[in-house]
Amino acid sequence: MSISVPQTPAEKKFYDELVAHKLLIPCDVPGVFGRGGVFEDVVDRLMMLISKHGGGDGAEIQRYPPLLSRNTFVQSGYLKSFPQMIGVVHSFVGKDPEHKKLLERVDQGETWSDDFPHADLVLTPAACYPVYPQAKGTLEAKGKLVDIMSYCMRHEPSGDPARMQMFRQREYVRVGTPEQIDEFRETWAKRSMTIMVEQLQLAAHRDVANDPFFGRGGKMLAMNQRDAALKHEILIPICSTEKPTACVSINYHQEHFGHLFEIRQPNGEYAHTSCIGFGLERTTLALLHTHGLAPAEWPKSVREHLGL
Ligand code: ZN
Repeated sequence: MSISVPQTPAEKKFYDELVAHKLLIPCDVPGVFGRGGVFEDVVDRLMMLISKHGGGDGAEIQRYPPLLSRNTFVQSGYLKSFPQMIGVVHSFVGKDPEHKKLLERVDQGETWSDDFPHADLVLTPAACYPVYPQAKGTLEAKGKLVDIMSYCMRHEPSGDPARMQMFRQREYVRVGTPEQIDEFRETWAKRSMTIMVEQLQLAAHRDVANDPFFGRGGKMLAMNQRDAALKHEILIPICSTEKPTACVSINYHQEHFGHLFEIRQPNGEYAHTSCIGFGLERTTLALLHTHGLAPAEWPKSVREHLGL
């Protein structure tokens, strides 16, 4: 199957292999895939491996559908920073006459999105976003720790199989004092490298990173984020060694969400927040690219850590 976006030779080769082995099932939109059984089995096992590291910390498990209310979405500030990535849900609100007209327009190949005005829902852009409105108020002394997993939407059609438009992030989200956040970030910086390098034997390295902030103003935001080392990524070569793929990100939002969602520390100051997110599809792809397309043939110790 050919897709309508550019692909490097390495991306095309890996894409074709993944499809031929039914690990990914392409749809008619670049970056949107079905996942085959072998692929999903690895994802499930990664989830369990991450839980082995973080499961003893007393995190509250929360799972949300990949939707946010428009209010929460606007409140989160995402619209200001990343308008290019957003996916909004629209719904039909007409009666019979409008429905008839709608079907005629579709038949005639005319645009018909005007008939779908409702947009009270936005596709979740980052797995941790539903946590912040729930944390509103004053925290207990121990703060809050949430284990979360969600599909996330990023509108960035690409020929790179590791750049999907919808993918799953498994995250731990910490809400608390700056000291609690420091401890969380240090703990997970170590754990995530143990998982990726020692246990999964991936050629991973950690680096300071920035989010793809939009527009001219975004350049400044990205520089500030880098200067303060607020975002780290664990990068693994998949389709390119020069531009390795971010498979894990550790983000420190300082008081950003505490302020926007009115979350306070016991001393009355705004809470600080941080999250670590494992890209489940990307890590699975890194494993398949590094160790081969048949998980049964991966190195013994990698299989043992994944319970394969
Ligand atoms: Zn997050």
